[in-house]
Amino acid sequence: MSMRVAATSALALAAGAGLVAGAFLPSVAEPPPAEQAAATGQPTTEDATAEASPSATPKRLTVGTTSPPEEQPQIEIKKLAPGEKPPQFVVVSFDGSCEMPDGIMANYLDTAEKVDGRFTFNISGVCVLPKNDMKYKYHPPGREAGESDIGFAVPEWVPSRITTWTEAYRAGHEMATHYLGHFCGPNGVQTWSTTDWTSEINQFNDFLTNWPTNNPNLTGLDPLPFDTSVIKGGRTPCLEGQRDQMYPAMIAAGYTYESSNSGKLTWPTKVEGYDIWDFPLQGIAIAGYGMKTLTMDYNFLANLNSGQTEAAPAQCAEIEKTVYQSYLNAGNALYNGNRAPLFIGNHFNEWACGAFTKSLTRFILDFKKAHPDVQFISNTDLEKWLEAQDPQVLAQLQAQPEPTY
Ligand SMILES: [Zn+2]
Repeated sequence: MSMRVAATSALALAAGAGLVAGAFLPSVAEPPPAEQAAATGQPTTEDATAEASPSATPKRLTVGTTSPPEEQPQIEIKKLAPGEKPPQFVVVSFDGSCEMPDGIMANYLDTAEKVDGRFTFNISGVCVLPKNDMKYKYHPPGREAGESDIGFAVPEWVPSRITTWTEAYRAGHEMATHYLGHFCGPNGVQTWSTTDWTSEINQFNDFLTNWPTNNPNLTGLDPLPFDTSVIKGGRTPCLEGQRDQMYPAMIAAGYTYESSNSGKLTWPTKVEGYDIWDFPLQGIAIAGYGMKTLTMDYNFLANLNSGQTEAAPAQCAEIEKTVYQSYLNAGNALYNGNRAPLFIGNHFNEWACGAFTKSLTRFILDFKKAHPDVQFISNTDLEKWLEAQDPQVLAQLQAQPEPTY
């Protein structure tokens, strides 16, 4: 099939650059008003029990992370012989990655287990910084203290975030960053200097490390089994940020890859001019639409539903089917072609009746079933695999064009 760039290219491009995304990105940190009221109404059963027991001595943590981090299970990495067919990798990452009352993160952890896979969770640090007075601890570059485009945490939701991150890390998933206030558009991260990015990264590290201090009423939780030294990359809000400003800050923070760029269905390289791997979202065909979009939920939403998060049931079903088929087509083309990794980015969302969660979950399960040798790995796993290869073998892989399909 020959493909043209989307007829709605202005919109697709805007979504790719994140320009329209801010308008409909979900609040990863804060719930819709109805749920919020429910969530803040009563103490949880757990809290009530703890208070009712006079003999219980609440465990109070001073630091919320573990240094050095616990050892994670590792994937087996094999060095390819010249000419040997590489494994088919799929790298699924989630922006926000803050557990919600519907258990979306727990569901994705279950899905990963079914395919013996590992995902990358790009954490939004504000989702463990409560929306009470604690939010003023955040000083976004160029903005008032306490501002965030995705809100702050409902305190009652913090425990499930800590426990799902703990479970994820111990299962081998990667913890990465989606930074803090998620400022998109003309006055957002696009205007930030290297100093601003450094401030954002340092504050992210602070909020992750010191979640017990910022949530003084939470007791009975263990520190996270990792510290911020495990964070080796992430994705910027709406894929924005001036690269020459942000890369020096990221590299100084010890980041070794970046996943905010647009790319093709080819083997990854390092970002030109910087010692940092480029793990992009890829342009793929939207099945049945004769256009392309990036491998991310909101880019499909921009193309298939004008960026609107609500849709009628028939339209929801159409979106789910289309996204699923688009990922499957791209995956099969790679599997039968150059074997470049497929990168997919999703948010934790219920847009279009949950079409994106359903289509991604179904793709993961079905692609593994169709090709049991497919490996779902994290960005850092992929980086280790790339670094372990003979440079000449890697160069041959990188020189291959993207498959046509
Ligand atoms: Zn985002």
